[in-house]
Order: sequence, then C-alpha cells, then structure tokens
Amino acid sequence: MTRHQISRVRRETRRRTLAVASVERLTPRMQRVHFTSDDLRDFDSGAPDDHIKLFLPTPEGPQSRDYTPRAFDAARGRLTVDFALHEAGPATAWALAAKAGDRLEIGGPRGSNIVADDFDWYLLIGDETALPAIGRRLEELRPGVPVTTVVAIDDDGERQTPVTRAAWTPVWAVRKPAMTDDAALILDALAGHEPPPGDGYVWIAAEGRVARALRVHFVEALGHPREWIKAAGYWSRGQVAVHETFKD
Ligand SMILES: Cc1cc2nc3c(=O)[nH]c(=O)nc-3n(C[C@H](O)[C@H](O)[C@H](O)COP(=O)(O)OP(=O)(O)OC[C@H]3O[C@@H](n4cnc5c(N)ncnc54)[C@H](O)[C@@H]3O)c2cc1C
Repeated sequence: MTRHQISRVRRETRRRTLAVASVERLTPRMQRVHFTSDDLRDFDSGAPDDHIKLFLPTPEGPQSRDYTPRAFDAARGRLTVDFALHEAGPATAWALAAKAGDRLEIGGPRGSNIVADDFDWYLLIGDETALPAIGRRLEELRPGVPVTTVVAIDDDGERQTPVTRAAWTPVWAVRKPAMTDDAALILDALAGHEPPPGDGYVWIAAEGRVARALRVHFVEALGHPREWIKAAGYWSRGQVAVHETFKD
C-alpha cells in the first residue's frame, strides 16, 4: 500500500441550529463553547483541521466565520469550538457573550483533508487560531510518534496541554505586541529544531503573511516535499474573515 496518503473527502453540507450547552474560559484568551443539538445526529468531522462556518448575528445581518470542530462527541451529540479572543469581530463578540441556551447556526464541514498517520514525524505550527486543530491532531495521532508543535502566543498563560499519546515536544513562542503578522518569531523558534530522521508532515496555520513565509521557508530553504506541507492563512491582519490556502 502507498505510504503517506493524503486524500480529500467531500460531503454534503447543510445548516444546523445549535444551542450552547456550556461555556468555559480555557485560558485568559481562549473561550471554549460546548454546543448541543438533535441536529448534530449526522454531523461528521473527519480531520483535525476541518472547519465549520458559524453564521453570526450582526446588525447588518448574519456574517460567517470559519472555526475548527475542536471535539465532537457523537454519543452525546456535543460539539466543542474554541474561540481565540482578540480585539474585535462578530465571532469574538459572540463568544464573549455566549451563555447556555444561546442559539447559533452553523454549516459544514464541507470536506476533510485526511492525512495518513504513518509519517515518521509531524511538525505542527501556528498561532492561537491553529491551537484547536493542533490540539485535536495531538489527541488523534498514534502512540509514540514524534510531534513537535511551535505555537506563537501572547503570553505564557495561553499554553495548553492537550492529552496525547504521541511523543510531543511543545515549543511556545511568546510574541511581543503587534507581532501577529511577523514570521520571525516562529522562524527563530524553528531554528533550534532538528527534525527526526525519516519522512515528516508539516502543517501550518496562522496569520496569512506568517503562514506564507513559513511555507516558503520549508519549500525553498529546506526543500521539504511540497505534498507533505499544508499551509493556510486562518486570518489576515486588518481584514475580516480571510481564509487562504497556499499552493504553487
Ligand atoms: C479553516 C479555519 C479554521 C479556523 N479555526 C479557528 C478556531 O478554531 N478558533 C479560532 O479562534 N479561530 C479560528 N480561525 C480563525 C478565525 O476564523 C478568524 O480569526 C476570524 O477572522 C475571527 O472572526 P472575528 O469575527 O472574531 O473577527 P473578524 O471580523 O474576522 O476580524 C476583525 C479584526 O480582527 C482581526 N483578527 C481576526 N482574527 C484575529 C486573531 N486571531 N488575532 C488578532 N486579530 C484578529 C482582523 O484582522 C480584523 O482586523 C479559523 C480560520 C480558518 C480559515
């Protein structure tokens, strides 16, 4: 069988109306919201970096933002979404005000990027918006596989400790204010990282300029096989609701 298969699964999407079951402040700037609904009966999320669309009520009408299904418990019909809180935006405002019983419409996930769990190592890089997908992948990877995560955060209070059976090396890069779109912080943190031997999968999600610069670093400076890298801009400084995927 071919090793390191990466395949795309597509699925029909439909809108679902969810109710907030509970809200918890995971870290000072990460709000975790648990949703429940009978509508989640046939919900499916096949990959840690899937995304759903949240349709947020605003005075101008609903606006959509992309979020990661951080966890889905099919038996309990319970979906968990983690919101990285920042200065402004309908998603952040909604998450800050969320309380049990609030309703929210969602769509998707429309597809999943299924990455074989047979790489020799994994390197997962990003900022706070990537932490839900990174946390989920850490929980899902096979026992003992070497995984390094390099995550830019505002301060040490934003560190998370997901449960994982993988051989996990966390690297936290604490940024100075206004460095959210500067790749230097993560590049410096990566300078001390020597990957293990063998084939590795590199996953990047961060502010768009950061994700693009990191991808260039891996492809051009390090010659990492492009098919074993996924890089996405999860937001863009100064713009709303941006999702970029970088390919050649
Ligand atoms: C596939 C995908 C999955 C995602 N998963 C998650 C997730 O699980 N959790 C999560 O928290 N985010 C996630 N994001 C990022 C999230 O969609 C964006 O941060 C989104 O813009 C937030 O919406 P908002 O309404 O709060 O702000 P917006 O109205 O979109 O933006 C308002 C202002 O805030 C800025 N801004 C947006 N996001 C940030 C940020 N994180 N830090 C600082 N400034 C910001 C914008 O540049 C703009 O100036 C994901 C994005 C994608 C594409």
